[in-house]
Amino acid sequence: MSSLTDLTLCQAAAGLRAGDFSSRELTEACLARIETLDGELKTFLTLVPEATLAQADAADKDLIAGRKQDVEALPPLLGVPIAVKDVLAVAGMRATAGSKVLENFVPPYTATAVQRLLDAGVIILGKTNTDEFAMGSSTENSAYETTHNPWNLARVPGGSSGGSAAAVKARLAPAALGSDTGGSIRQPASYCGVTGIKTTYGRVSRYGLIAYGSSLDTVGALGRDAQDVSVLFKLMAGHDPKDATTLDVPVPEVALNGSEKIGGLRVGVPKEYFIEGIQPGVETAVRAAIAQFEALGAEIREISLPYTAYALPVYYIIAPAEASANLARFDGVRYGLRVPDEDMIQMYKETRGAGFGPEVKRRIMLGTYALSAGYYDAYYGQAQKVRTLIKQDFTKAFEEVDVIAAPVAPTTAFPIGEHSDDPLAMYLEDVFTLPANLAGVPGLAFPVGFDGENLPVGVQLMGPIFGEERLFRVAHAYQQVTDWHRQYPPLMVAG
Ligand code: GLN
Repeated sequence: MSSLTDLTLCQAAAGLRAGDFSSRELTEACLARIETLDGELKTFLTLVPEATLAQADAADKDLIAGRKQDVEALPPLLGVPIAVKDVLAVAGMRATAGSKVLENFVPPYTATAVQRLLDAGVIILGKTNTDEFAMGSSTENSAYETTHNPWNLARVPGGSSGGSAAAVKARLAPAALGSDTGGSIRQPASYCGVTGIKTTYGRVSRYGLIAYGSSLDTVGALGRDAQDVSVLFKLMAGHDPKDATTLDVPVPEVALNGSEKIGGLRVGVPKEYFIEGIQPGVETAVRAAIAQFEALGAEIREISLPYTAYALPVYYIIAPAEASANLARFDGVRYGLRVPDEDMIQMYKETRGAGFGPEVKRRIMLGTYALSAGYYDAYYGQAQKVRTLIKQDFTKAFEEVDVIAAPVAPTTAFPIGEHSDDPLAMYLEDVFTLPANLAGVPGLAFPVGFDGENLPVGVQLMGPIFGEERLFRVAHAYQQVTDWHRQYPPLMVAG
């Protein structure tokens, strides 16, 4: 290994336990790389190096003491730094959600998903860039900065967890947390060439996640490979009394040991995901990955998810409707920005006018319209009915197959600015990721090749509700015999 920043999360955790290096050394290596590269990449919104290094020193003390007694009794990720998308609350650390309205908001509490990882010993390296309130597919909707794709700085990293995905690929952090409401973990994972899990709705607590679309929001993780992501998943998952939508079902042991067998596994390939308009380089790489699953013993079956085409219009009614309700709380009274005015209504208007960016305002207007008296049944009510049909597509499919394999997005990373003036073109990037959110099922994205322009292509595996473990197994088996996940952007190698 040439450098500590090359280590995967699991390698870093093992090296720390063995005493090969200290948490301070590892954390300093990440911070130094951030210092060198992040001026250009713009993956982080908030860094607090002193506090981070103080955590590292505390971890080192525990590591030294633990090594003298029982190393196995130490928390599994003791001393490993990770990055956190800026929609998750970490007590005492600014949480902006990429919005000006929360520019100076410091939450007094920590998200459950983050807390569980802190309990497992991680160190928080910083908060990563996101589209404002996670609304977007490129990080261009961040009120602060646009993140650049480490494979090509003129391209977007995807979004909205684009800061997390780019930070992991640029090896600024071993792994990162994200959120996925309509593709925000899987699509940037695909655009940057990392592995990312969108968890089953209700599997990981949303407590401390700044809400976007509450019936769709999920918390997940991005990392170098399926193994790393499965470790984070397992630690974060499970019932939380602070989020009534988390389910009290056991989290399976996802110990991946390199001998995963997928022989006999039925992999469904939905014909609706290979439509006109999909970039040829994407289709070629995804089909090659499916052929590789077959070579590993899986049985490939063509399937149909007939309501796929409705996912986009349905999502873009339900998500804005829920967002319009969730974002009502940003009124200048309790949190964040306030533009003072003697008249209260005027104060609301000016605060919201100054605090929200154009895409967020568009969504609030669309959502408010869809929920307004007279239109509710025609839009929101109708969308909910079609959502049920989309859900049923998946239920039926999983009677026939164990997992579904499909592209993550119709294209690879597009140029910065390409869709900025065309919201609809931006929404179309989400066409293959939205169905899993509407159905509540898990999805795992991981790299399976490159297009003609040396940009990564990802495949998406979807599984039944609570079927994450199955997705990790397939990805891990694939990653044992391929090395797409180990490719790093040439730009970064010298760093
Ligand atoms: N791009 C989608 C949107 O803008 C999904 C975003 C997300 O998953 N948070 O709503």
